[in-house]
Amino acid sequence: MKEKLSEYQSCLGIQFDVAYPNARKGYVDGAKVQEHYALIPTKQVAHIDDLSEKERNIYKEILSTTLSMFAPDYEFEETIVEIDVNGLMFHKTGKIEKRKGWKVLLGEESETKKEDEPVLPEMNEGDSCSVTVSIKEGMTKPPKLFTEGNLIQVMKNAGKEVDDENVKAILKQTEGIGTEATRANIIDTLKHQEYIEIKKNTVYVTPKGALLCQAVDGTLLASAEMTAKWEQYLSKIGKNEGSQQTFLDTIEKFILSLLDTVPKQVENIKEQIDQAMEKTFIGICLQCQNGKIEDKGTFYGCTGYRDGCTFTLPKIYLGKKLSETDIKALLNGKRTKLIKGFKSKKGKKFDAYLRIEHGKIKFDFP
Ligand SMILES: [Zn+2]
Repeated sequence: MKEKLSEYQSCLGIQFDVAYPNARKGYVDGAKVQEHYALIPTKQVAHIDDLSEKERNIYKEILSTTLSMFAPDYEFEETIVEIDVNGLMFHKTGKIEKRKGWKVLLGEESETKKEDEPVLPEMNEGDSCSVTVSIKEGMTKPPKLFTEGNLIQVMKNAGKEVDDENVKAILKQTEGIGTEATRANIIDTLKHQEYIEIKKNTVYVTPKGALLCQAVDGTLLASAEMTAKWEQYLSKIGKNEGSQQTFLDTIEKFILSLLDTVPKQVENIKEQIDQAMEKTFIGICLQCQNGKIEDKGTFYGCTGYRDGCTFTLPKIYLGKKLSETDIKALLNGKRTKLIKGFKSKKGKKFDAYLRIEHGKIKFDFP
């Protein structure tokens, strides 16, 4: 990368004096080399005009992030201005930018200043200025729901909310829950197990997820302290100061104690989860008579599919959408209301009631 810096710069069309020829330590630290590294450009610099717009955007983003490791610091003066308005003191904190530094690489977006940190004009003590005083009315707002991107940051900073300073320090050092490489996978697992769901890029906890939180609340499993202790010992092993066996012995003890206490707790919670889940089931499976039918997104399927049950019902049948009420009727052995406008394979339109016979959908004609 070092050899290619000027080529990268010309490719981006942004020039600056390299201030950190070996990159900032926070990004590249030979003493801490591990298996993961960030997205970086290769030695071969792309012909940026040959790329599609989307490719070019991504390539530029990676280039500028990479280059910012070498760019000068962003320098600013933070000032607190006290303004005396007829004997009433007003305070304002502001930034005066001294040098753009790495910010020249980040384009427009970094230009938007936080409202509470406006760029103040140069001022000297005793200067007078004109003041417009107004009252601002507002309401408090609940915290914003997380996006998936936020969630990764929250996992990384998991120690922030912990009171114990020692634990906090360890979690900061180990970067919270998971690693750069595994955090996204952890979130995927939560989605897959239906503990969380993403709607319009916002993360929601499902009822099942909320119950899980209740279930582990107050236990060691949910304790950031425990994660910190494990991480601390793992790093000891890394430095050859601890042994694998001691670590495994501790985990074994932990698991044995869990096996002793958790089943009772879980039994309780499981009942609640089942009750909560019951509401989302549409009916009992006609094939295995045991599994429950649930909405699988594009069709209705049996919860017994893991045990080999293949029963499904379509959401759209011969061009018509089947409502949940229709599906409930079918599962109860009844026929649906008259559904108008089915389209046969030959393109003929017809109306019919649906019912299920020997596991297959049949028509009743009016
Ligand atoms: Zn079934």
